[in-house]
Amino acid sequence: MKSHTRVAVIGGGVVGCSVLFHLTKLGWSDVMLIERSELTSGSTWHAAGGMHTVNGDPNIAKLQAYTIELYQEIERLSGQSCGMHLTAGLMLAASPERLDFLKLLRARARYLGLDMELISLDDAERLFPLLDKRQFVGALYNVLEGHVDPTGVTHAYAKAARQNGAEVVRFNRVLETHPCSDGGWDLVTEQGSVHAEHVVNAAGLWAREVGRMAGLELPVLAMEHQYLITEDIPEVLASPREMLHVIDFDGELYMRQEGRGGMLIGTYERNGKPWSERTTPWEFGHELLADDLDRIAPSLETGFTHYPALGRAGIKKVINGPFTFTPDGNPLVGPVRGLHHYWVACGVMAGLSQGGGVGLALANWIVHGDPGYDIWAMDVARYGDWATMAYTNAKVRENYSRRWRIRFPNEELPAGRPLRTTPIHDRLEAAGGVFGVSYGLEHALWYAPHGCDPVEEVTFRRSNAHQPVGAECSLVRSAVGLMDITTYAKYEIKGRGAEAWLARVLGGRVPKTGRLALNPMLDGHGHVVGDFTLGKLAPEHFMIFGSGIAESYHLRWFDQHGSADSVTIRALGTNLCGIAIAGPRSRDLLASVVREDVGNVAFPFLHIRQLEVGIVPALVGRLSFTGELGYEIWVTSDYQRALHATLTRAGAEFGLRPFGARALNSLRLEKSFGNWVREFRPVYGVGETGLERFLDFNKLDFIGRSAALRERSEGPKRRLTTFIVGDAGVDALGDEPVWHDGTVVGWVTSGGYGHVADKSIALGYIPSALATAAQGFEIEIIGERRPARVAHAALVDPDGARMRS
Ligand SMILES: Cc1cc2nc3c(=O)[nH]c(=O)nc-3n(C[C@H](O)[C@H](O)[C@H](O)COP(=O)(O)OP(=O)(O)OC[C@H]3O[C@@H](n4cnc5c(N)ncnc54)[C@H](O)[C@@H]3O)c2cc1C
Repeated sequence: MKSHTRVAVIGGGVVGCSVLFHLTKLGWSDVMLIERSELTSGSTWHAAGGMHTVNGDPNIAKLQAYTIELYQEIERLSGQSCGMHLTAGLMLAASPERLDFLKLLRARARYLGLDMELISLDDAERLFPLLDKRQFVGALYNVLEGHVDPTGVTHAYAKAARQNGAEVVRFNRVLETHPCSDGGWDLVTEQGSVHAEHVVNAAGLWAREVGRMAGLELPVLAMEHQYLITEDIPEVLASPREMLHVIDFDGELYMRQEGRGGMLIGTYERNGKPWSERTTPWEFGHELLADDLDRIAPSLETGFTHYPALGRAGIKKVINGPFTFTPDGNPLVGPVRGLHHYWVACGVMAGLSQGGGVGLALANWIVHGDPGYDIWAMDVARYGDWATMAYTNAKVRENYSRRWRIRFPNEELPAGRPLRTTPIHDRLEAAGGVFGVSYGLEHALWYAPHGCDPVEEVTFRRSNAHQPVGAECSLVRSAVGLMDITTYAKYEIKGRGAEAWLARVLGGRVPKTGRLALNPMLDGHGHVVGDFTLGKLAPEHFMIFGSGIAESYHLRWFDQHGSADSVTIRALGTNLCGIAIAGPRSRDLLASVVREDVGNVAFPFLHIRQLEVGIVPALVGRLSFTGELGYEIWVTSDYQRALHATLTRAGAEFGLRPFGARALNSLRLEKSFGNWVREFRPVYGVGETGLERFLDFNKLDFIGRSAALRERSEGPKRRLTTFIVGDAGVDALGDEPVWHDGTVVGWVTSGGYGHVADKSIALGYIPSALATAAQGFEIEIIGERRPARVAHAALVDPDGARMRS
């Protein structure tokens, strides 16, 4: 075993081997993989090998397609068979809601370039003769589905990597990992020590244990999972072609052919069982867990109804093995904040569908400093310290039990909640608040009117929240509303070097003392990696306000873009709480509770100042994401209740009522304001997003400046565009295709109803050449293409007079 390497990958399951292969494919040959036993000795060896492109996040779906398409290449490179059976697949719906879901999947597939088609039930039965078509209402045919041999795939990755110069060391457990002063890592293994410039934790079932060696507690938990293999079934034996891969959403099961005449059936039962909740034993390896058919009996019964031939078949074998999940079911990938050159590729619950994409993205990230794809949905930075072991346990159980159930776009899942709350949570609840969760923090989505249950019906269409949210929007546009905005991220930047650091890291203007400036943050390619408001409180004292869900992501970025010793950066989290007031009467309300002049001249738009609000010391910024006259009032958490009481008491005179995140979404859509994660993501060029106007090109060296200039001179490829959609009582949600003259030309990033504009609105990206065309567009919403026209200006107050006056 060598004693020095550029990258040491810990773990020889399908994921670690894929990372190793992709590193070598990018030209890094001085890399190694260390496996404590034989390759595949975690969850990989007993996987069912199924592969498909279903994922809640379109970008991950795309990486799943990459994984499936990669198998031929690694077979060719390595000479090792992957046992490929690209049978194609059927996704089956037994309820109208599921059929809606299939329509959404099919629509999304269009702009992802994936080949999926809704087919008739007669065709479904012809393709998969085991099903009883009377049990279903629809079927989606997917070309990219099938199964592989997990061991073959893992060895193919490893062989191809070895051919490119990588070393694979087996039967060698990594015992300790130690950070070194040169920025690399010393790994103590059973066969001696290795110095690595980078470490990748791809330890699968032992990812937690390997993480703990570096002081990390990763939000990962293994669940037991069972599948069974039937005896030969006459209908299968008689079939002229291999059975398709099937996902039966309502039956909560998946299946495929096994051998000549058997079927493999797996299910995600509702009362799933965690495995090794705190520590995974090192001695676990190639054994299986005891089967428990009673646990999966309800799903099997549905299966026997949906596929009667299965009910007549004997069971040949039952497999029960553990594999890991994260709280939201997507992998944990990327560099870990605070640990230099420490990377994770774990929590991968569908290694045969996702392993290739995970390996590609991580290898890109290590070699090029950028994953090269939009992997926000699997970035390890989407979790913070709040994702404790017990939280993870609750969420993973929930996630497992819902694996094939519909997650409606307006559905908030209950497990692990409430975890983080703001001091005024009980008051918002008493006001009828219906809560969602963002980065572990509860926040009100909307308020149920007096006498109505604060419960939202889940749907792909407009819900019972539609009318109340409309009333909240009207309130904000006509009087004044109040919102708890503690979910925003707040960073305090202090020190002698603060201004210079901010000028380099952020793309916009560094404002004068007492002022605010909107500030995109770019990477070296000119892509948008942050969307902030920067405030200057004093010469060496600044505040950045941004998206709460991106707090770890942005802190990692700040760390990586090195602040000098003379700068301190502190995330204030819930130590700084906020209440926004917005609407034409918000100034009157503020004036009634402060002594200072807060008129438009004394306290203009985009200014920030300290004020005593009632008796509460507060930092008040004059801006509002609603596009109305408004103020964001920040106080330390011990004052939030007093601030709320002051505003509520004084607000009665002005008609003050609370509004929630749903209303804010509607209001910002009417203003064509983009949002982090939806419109602004690290794959969009700043010119494409429209944020270019906030860049300050007078600064000569901010990150991404030359790329942004290049984009400006060449012209952005795409444009963020606002559409008014033909209203048929249903709105776009995000991820729908945009058609123009019969061709898919783009995609929707967010959609909803603009209650005051009285229009269904969608924001999305289309090629720049089409952005000036007003007509000829359609947006496909739940299977129907609805006419859409481009709105060249915001639908409400296009000049922005209201927020400035
Ligand atoms: C019953 C069952 C059915 C499944 N069916 C499917 C399916 O149909 N399709 C699909 O895509 N996925 C399926 N999966 C999930 C799939 O198995 C996992 O997604 C995949 O195996 C994850 O691979 P991994 O490389 O991340 O982890 P693992 O396979 O757990 O690999 C981790 C490796 O790291 C090694 N290791 C750990 N610690 C150390 C250390 N300290 N030093 C050295 N080496 C170490 C281990 O020995 C192990 O070999 C199934 C899983 C189960 C249990």
